[in-house]
Amino acid sequence: MPINNIIINGLGIGENIVLGKVFYYSDEISVPTYSITEDEIEKEYQRFNNAIKESENQLNELQSSVANEIGDILYTHIIMLNDKVINNQIKETVARTKKNIDSVYNKIMFDYINKIRSLPDQTLAERSNDIMDVRTRVLRNLNNVSLIQNIPINTDAIIVAKNLTPSDTLHFRDNSIAGFAVETGGVTSHIAILARSLGIPAIVGLKNITSMINVGDSMIINGKTGQVIINPDEKIKAGYEITRALYKKSYEEGMLESQKKTIMLDNVEIDIAINIDTYEDTINIEKYGCKDIGLYRTEFLYMTHGPFPNENVQFEYYKNIFDSVEGTTTIRTLDLGGDKLADGYNINSSNFEMDENPFLGWRAIRFCLSNQNIFKTQLRAIFRASVYGKIRVIIPMISVVHEIIKIKEIIEEVKEQLRNEKIDFDDNIKLGAMIETPSAAISSDILAKHVDFFSIGSNDLIQYTLACDRTNEKVAYLYQPLDTSVLRLIKMISLSANKADINISLCGEMGASIIYCPVLLGLGIHSLSMSKTSVPTIKKTIRLLKMSECKKLVDVLFETDDTEEKKIIIDKFLKKANINLADDDIIKN
Ligand code: PEP
Ligand code: MG
Repeated sequence: MPINNIIINGLGIGENIVLGKVFYYSDEISVPTYSITEDEIEKEYQRFNNAIKESENQLNELQSSVANEIGDILYTHIIMLNDKVINNQIKETVARTKKNIDSVYNKIMFDYINKIRSLPDQTLAERSNDIMDVRTRVLRNLNNVSLIQNIPINTDAIIVAKNLTPSDTLHFRDNSIAGFAVETGGVTSHIAILARSLGIPAIVGLKNITSMINVGDSMIINGKTGQVIINPDEKIKAGYEITRALYKKSYEEGMLESQKKTIMLDNVEIDIAINIDTYEDTINIEKYGCKDIGLYRTEFLYMTHGPFPNENVQFEYYKNIFDSVEGTTTIRTLDLGGDKLADGYNINSSNFEMDENPFLGWRAIRFCLSNQNIFKTQLRAIFRASVYGKIRVIIPMISVVHEIIKIKEIIEEVKEQLRNEKIDFDDNIKLGAMIETPSAAISSDILAKHVDFFSIGSNDLIQYTLACDRTNEKVAYLYQPLDTSVLRLIKMISLSANKADINISLCGEMGASIIYCPVLLGLGIHSLSMSKTSVPTIKKTIRLLKMSECKKLVDVLFETDDTEEKKIIIDKFLKKANINLADDDIIKN
């Protein structure tokens, strides 16, 4: 008999509340170990043969649906599966030790993995990850544990997991599910950003949730409040229906006004653009009254078509996006690293390995500058596609001006190559810097002389300024957009951009929250980019504000260094402007 009405609070993402059925997702596997009798040896061989056959079928099927480079890797997996020497060794060990096939197989594969990992040859050592992949597949098939891509998932499924990688999240998008409830992560982790842009409610930072659920449980998740209710009773379900109807009404009201311009009460117009991760995100953006893409995060293309898609694959993809966007697309060069890592990068690439401290390590432009072939391939694809739309290029995680100087040299080299090859491209593409490290913010006056525009990456700027990992729920309390240090840096960046007369916008999640909205406007940010699902609420908020009042609000906020007090001041300010904080999906956290 399940226990009803268990309430857990986490960090909520999204504008929605859903009721669904729990779907537990884990990529860990447990390996059963037991003894067998002489008579059972043949049965174990049979299980093994079946698992190898099933694995081969799955790999063949996968191979036909992926790009060439991945296909080659899958082919090597098929060869490994059928390695006669290893497979005979496994069978011989089962017969000799009288242990079940799973445990023997696991041990022998690990012996190989460890041997290969200790080799000085780095490329060979990295093959160990392929063996690990093959091992996981065979062990799952031995126990009939389906791989995620083979599981039929209902549309009312709420995916409950310890952790989800961005590629897992994208995969579930293709299965159109109801929501996510995850143990790890903060409000700006990439699973949160993806969930928001997919319009799927998610709750992250739900400690121990995976140990509280059972097969068949039902669950309500409220993206606005961060609340999860396991096995709600009839009374709670009735309340859920009412809340759902209210949220729907409020959202639809916002949508009705989305087409109107975003003009403040004292006539200042604010630009609202959309953040996208994939081509699908560009569909219907005009419904939100938006024309421009303020941030296109290209790393998701690498995760879905990667590990490193070739120039033509990228060109076709960018071309489709630029072509379908009515306004300007601000395309960001590869920002791999931090929590934006697909398993594939560890497994298949000889160029990328997980750093011990990935957010401070070989991320984004740092990775691109030391792998210039990968960077140049992307730039060539972007430039070639530039003739199909209006675009700007932005570079993530700039820390020092020297990086910009180097990037400009590389861009010139790529352009020269294209000219020599007589390939058309737009020769006047504006170059921008993401300002998301404290060093870039502090030296923004210098950087402003070298680029055409800035976009503040507040998700990173906050984590780096307060030295708290944005994905770690244990330090989520430190992740405070209103901290004086963060507000000072945003003001500094805004002043530098104004002084140099370059365009500035903000594309982090801070810009999608009602409570931070008047603060950003008052700090001089007149252009915001966000997930399309946040647009109606933010536009509605801005139309109720006066720029002169927002500036005064910022002055008052700088008089206190207590974040809680700042929230109270803003709360009062918003109430006075008739703005309903119940619509905010970030303040609740
Ligand atoms: C940011 O850091 O605010 C940002 C927009 O980039 P990302 O979230 O992709 O790191
Ligand atoms: Mg960033």
